[in-house]
This record gives sequence, C-alpha cells and structure tokens, in this order.
Amino acid sequence: MKKDITIVGAGLVGSLLSVYLSKRGYSISLFERRSDMRKEKLSAGRSINLALSDRGLLALEKVGLAYSIKQICIPMHGRCIHNTDGTIAFQPYGKEGQYINSVSRGELNKRLMSLAEENGANIYFNEKCTAIDWDNRKVVFENEETKNTKIQKADLIFGADGAFSAARLQHQLHHHKFDYQQYYIDCGYKELTIPPTANGDFALEPNALHIWPRKYYMLIALPNLDKTFTCTLFFPFENLSDDEQRLSFKKINTEEKIKKFFHANFPDAIPLMPDYVNEFLTNPTSSLVTVKCFPWIRDDYFALIGDAAHALVPFYGQGMNCGFEDCRILDELIEKYATDWSKVFSEYQTMRKPDADAIADLAIYNFTEMRDKTADPKFLLQKKIENRFAQLHPDKWLPLYSLVTFSPEIRYSDAMKKGEQQEKIMSEIMKMPGIEKKWESEEIEKLMLRKID
Ligand SMILES: Cc1cc2nc3c(=O)[nH]c(=O)nc-3n(C[C@H](O)[C@H](O)[C@H](O)COP(=O)(O)OP(=O)(O)OC[C@H]3O[C@@H](n4cnc5c(N)ncnc54)[C@H](O)[C@@H]3O)c2cc1C
Repeated sequence: MKKDITIVGAGLVGSLLSVYLSKRGYSISLFERRSDMRKEKLSAGRSINLALSDRGLLALEKVGLAYSIKQICIPMHGRCIHNTDGTIAFQPYGKEGQYINSVSRGELNKRLMSLAEENGANIYFNEKCTAIDWDNRKVVFENEETKNTKIQKADLIFGADGAFSAARLQHQLHHHKFDYQQYYIDCGYKELTIPPTANGDFALEPNALHIWPRKYYMLIALPNLDKTFTCTLFFPFENLSDDEQRLSFKKINTEEKIKKFFHANFPDAIPLMPDYVNEFLTNPTSSLVTVKCFPWIRDDYFALIGDAAHALVPFYGQGMNCGFEDCRILDELIEKYATDWSKVFSEYQTMRKPDADAIADLAIYNFTEMRDKTADPKFLLQKKIENRFAQLHPDKWLPLYSLVTFSPEIRYSDAMKKGEQQEKIMSEIMKMPGIEKKWESEEIEKLMLRKID
C-alpha cells in the first residue's frame, strides 16, 4: 500500500484534502511556501472574504468540519442591489432558508490548517516547491528563509498550490502532450473597506451580499465577523472599447479622479468608506484568470486539485467550493477503488474535468449577469417568472443559480446543460408581446410546461 503522501500547498484545498486522506490512514506531509499565518498578525483592516456555499459545506460535512467552519461564517440570504438612483432592492438567492456564507479567507485557512494537524498531518512552512523528479517521485523544496533544499520522497503527490501552481508547471514541462489554457479577463479588482459605524454596528445589512452594478464594472461588499465589510471593485484595467467615456483603472489615477468617479457611481457608498481614496491609491490592483489544463494526473501517483487544476474567475463564488468538491469526489473514489490509485485518479479526472470546465465558463458568464443584468428590469422580470414557476413546479424547474449553488448532488456540467435549456425557453417567453402584464398568468405557466416536456 502507498502510504506517504506529499501535498504541495497548504491553502484551502490542500488543507482540506489532508484531512480526508489522514482519515483514510495515510501519512500526510503538507508543504507550504508561505510562513505559518496562524503565528502572524493580520495587517490592520484587511480581511478578504469568500462565499462558501452548499458544495463546499457538503465537502466539509463529510469529514465532520462543517460545524466548526460555520462558527466563523455570516449567512447571506440574497443580493442587495444598490441602484444608481439610490434605491436598494433585495433579491433572495434561493428558496426561504437557503443562503450562502461569508467567511474570511485567512480565518478559514487557519482553521483548516489546525484541523489538518489535529487529524495527523504535518505542515512544513516556508517550503517552496521548485522541482519534481518524476522518475524517482521526489519533490524538491527550497526553504524561503534559509534557502536550504529539501528533497521529499513520496508514494503519492498532490499539486494543491493554487492558480499559478509550480507542481502543474513541473507536470507540464515533463509531459509530451499537456494542454494548457490561461485566460485573463480585462477586469482587475481592488479591495476597499467599510468599517463598523460609530456605534460599532454593521454599516449595511449584514445578511446580504451587496452589489452596486454599473454595467461595465461593479462594486460588491461582503460582511465580516468584526462588523466590517470587505468591498471589491471589479473594474477594467484599461479601456479597450471605442467609447472614449469608458472608465478604467488606468484612467482613474489621481485623488480628484477617484473622488469624481465614486461620487458619480457609488454616492451612497462614500459615507461608509472614510478611507476609500487612500485605499484606492495604495491597495494593489489584482488580475483575474481562468486556467484550464489536461491531464490533471500522472498514472497512479500524481494529481492536481483545486485551483492548480482549474482556476476560475470569482463571479459565481465557486472556486473554493469546486476545490472542496474535488476532495469529496476523490474520497468517494477511494471508497470505491480502495488502494487502486490508477483507477481512483483516472475516474477523478474523467469526472471532474468537465465539471471544472463548466463552472469556469459559468463564472465568466455570471460576471455579465452581476455587473449588468442585476439592474436590468427585463432580466429581473425573467427571474420573477422563473422563480414563480420554480415554486409552482419545483420538480420541473430549478433556476441555474440554485442548481450551481444549492444543489451539490447535481454536477456542474449537468447544471450548465439544464441552465442552457431553461435559458432557451425563457428567451422565447420573454419575447412574447405583453409579457410584462401577463407574466403571472396561467397561459405563461401552461406554455412553460409544454416547452419543458
Ligand atoms: C477576488 C477573489 C474572490 C474569490 N471569491 C470566492 C468565493 O466567494 N467563493 C469561492 O468558492 N471561491 C472564491 N475565490 C476562489 C478561491 O479563492 C480559490 O478557488 C481557492 O483559494 C482555491 O484554493 P486552493 O487551495 O486550490 O488554492 P490557494 O488558496 O491559492 O492555495 C494554494 C496554496 O499553495 C501555496 N503555494 C503556491 N505555490 C507554492 C509552491 N511553489 N510551493 C509550496 N506552496 C505553494 C500558496 O501559498 C497557497 O497557500 C475567489 C478568488 C478571488 C481571486
């Protein structure tokens, strides 16, 4: 039996994977490039958060971690849309009782690392993977502090080292037909902060994800346990269109221009963000990438997992959820094939690759939906019709967002196919004359029933 497993990267997915594998009796060594974040003080006022939803929670639940992680989550029941006229509209995410969770990336990672150690994994920090000797199954690490080299022999190796994975690069360099696709969108992002009010309360409704959709860009805000909100401005790096008026990070580069831009676009957010100009000027502007690659595995001894296998843009809030789901599926295959790692890896790749491709494409599509369509009356009417129909016929219709976010039993690739079929029906319904008036009629309901069957 293969016993010693080396995991490159103790991020969100590597840490969870180690819990799954420890529970199966393997000896786990996790190597992390960064220092131990549990021993460091967070830089003041900066907490980056993520939306954890049912796929991620199910994966945590399977190894008994969901309860512990839920303690550091804030439920978000829907989107609060901040319109340009100052009005706010609430759009529930799903049915009554369904919600996604805001969680601090740092706190989640720290907790997962501790849970990994409690389950028997050893984590080595400041160890950066620099090479892999595939013939001898040895991973080379360079210590970021001492610059010493360590060679780790392993029976099995996992690359869980994120979107810019060194393990993936080693795999690619020593593979004669490795497919690789990397795609940057023209938008970057910058994080800003909404502090608590003078009374120490949340400055906005805490149980919602706030969105200021502005067609070509958007600002979003997610709550943190310390009553701050982390805001993210998704904004074009530069204007690639013919429209001279189109704004971009490149154009907004002085205090005056920043103020003018925020006053024109997010006037209700300004009083909530006392330090926005300084944060805008000093916080980094980061890029957003989709990575697709193949194969994810090498015979019976190596696999990529999480962002290393499939990096997504964040607009469906699924990158981490998808990586956690990778761990759950892999574990189900270990249950099925026991120590036959060749079968485990081969089926893992066959199952997960189409699902990762599907959610990567859906995430790109959802950017348009979030920044543009959430403020479009026609789109909102379409959502109302879909929601009404889904309530009347829950066995026949589940909106795409619910399929992706609240239905972990449905594969991403099946959710995408179902979503495409439903979108086709809805585009026909929305073209009907007078749909604005008769959207609640029996005629529409019957027509939709006919179109489904
Ligand atoms: C702005 C933004 C918002 C997001 N929002 C959401 C969201 O709401 N919901 C969601 O589900 N997902 C979200 N994501 C995606 C999510 O962050 C990733 O999918 C998730 O972090 C992937 O986890 P991972 O462990 O695979 O990779 P990472 O979290 O990137 O962890 C990789 C680890 O490997 C380490 N490492 C890297 N190179 C080496 C090396 N050479 N040697 C050793 N260690 C190494 C890194 O230091 C890191 O600790 C968001 C992403 C972004 C950018």
